[in-house]
This record gives sequence, C-alpha cells and structure tokens, in this order.
Amino acid sequence: MTARAYIALGSNQGDRQAYLADALAVLGSLPGVNRVSQRPTYETDPVGGHAGQGRFLNAVAQVSTDLSAKQLLDELNKIEADHGRDRSAEPSRSGPRTLDLDILFFGDEVINQVGLTVPHPRMHQRWFVLKPLCDLAPDAVHPVLHRTVRELLAELETPAT
Ligand code: ATP
Ligand code: CA
Ligand code: CA
Repeated sequence: MTARAYIALGSNQGDRQAYLADALAVLGSLPGVNRVSQRPTYETDPVGGHAGQGRFLNAVAQVSTDLSAKQLLDELNKIEADHGRDRSAEPSRSGPRTLDLDILFFGDEVINQVGLTVPHPRMHQRWFVLKPLCDLAPDAVHPVLHRTVRELLAELETPAT
C-alpha cells in the first residue's frame, strides 16, 4: 500500500540549507520512497528550548511511500544521524540541531505507539510547520482534529480574543 506522508525538516546549526537539501535528496533515494516534493523554505525563530540558539530553516516534504510509518521514522532517524545529529549531545527537546525530521501526517493514519505519534502531536500549534505544509497541502485534513491545514493555520494566525 502506498501512503502519502508529510515530513517536516528543520535545521539551526551549521550549513542549514545544505542539511535540508541533502536530507531531501537522501529521502528521495530511499527504496520505497517516491515522488518527493517540497516548497519554499522558511526561516523562523526557535520556539522553546535554550536561549541564544540560531534561527531555524524549516521546510515540509511530501512523499509517496510503500514503507510503514515506523519504517519511515527509522529511516528519518538514520538520515538525522548521518547528518551530524548527536542526540546524546542535545540538552533537551527543542535544542539546537543540525537536522530534525518529523512525520506530520502518514496518510490518514492515527498512530499512538511508544516513540511514534502521528499526526505529530504539536504540529497544529506551530506556524513553522503549518505554513510550509499549507503551501503543499492546504486541503489535507488532520485526521484527529478534523480540520484542514488551511483552517489550522488560520486559527493559529488569528489572535485569541
Ligand atoms: P518535537 O517532537 O516537539 O518536534 P523534537 O523533534 O525536538 O520535538 P526529538 O528529540 O527529535 O524531538 O524526538 C523525540 C522522539 O520523538 C523521537 O525519538 C521519536 O521516537 C519521537 N516521535 C514521536 N512521534 C514522532 C513523529 N511523528 N515524528 C518524529 N519523531 C516522533
Ligand atoms: Ca521536531
Ligand atoms: Ca524530531
């Protein structure tokens, strides 16, 4: 079964553009992964984590894949490690990193396993995820919140009253 998946890419250390470009190239070359497409990259301020870390480059890629979500996550973790990401050296979640690859949507699957939650549990709170995702797939529906990406982004951009 082929699934359409969306992957968030982020980098705020080293040659960020090169890390993202390289990750996309590797992603597209994985057996079982086809048709990688990506839209413009956004530069954003870090959210959370330690003060003083550099700005992020963020992007989202769309892939068609015959892998399972877990297999895809394993491949993403390998790509991160091959691109200089050393989790043991990271002070915490949201710390600086050469490359972060997260699965946002995997078809319309809802997954709640140890080590893998899909849709990504914080994606709807993050402009830096929703904005590039909306460029690619404004009408994709979040299978838990039952809102389109365009709606989720609009809700985030509308100040609370
Ligand atoms: P956040 O998840 O808030 O974006 P992060 O990306 O900084 O934080 P990491 O340290 O990269 O967090 O990942 C922590 C763990 O999250 C990973 O080991 C992975 O098993 C798990 N994880 C759970 N769901 C997902 C998902 N949808 N995509 C990627 N990793 C996930
Ligand atoms: Ca992340
Ligand atoms: Ca991650």
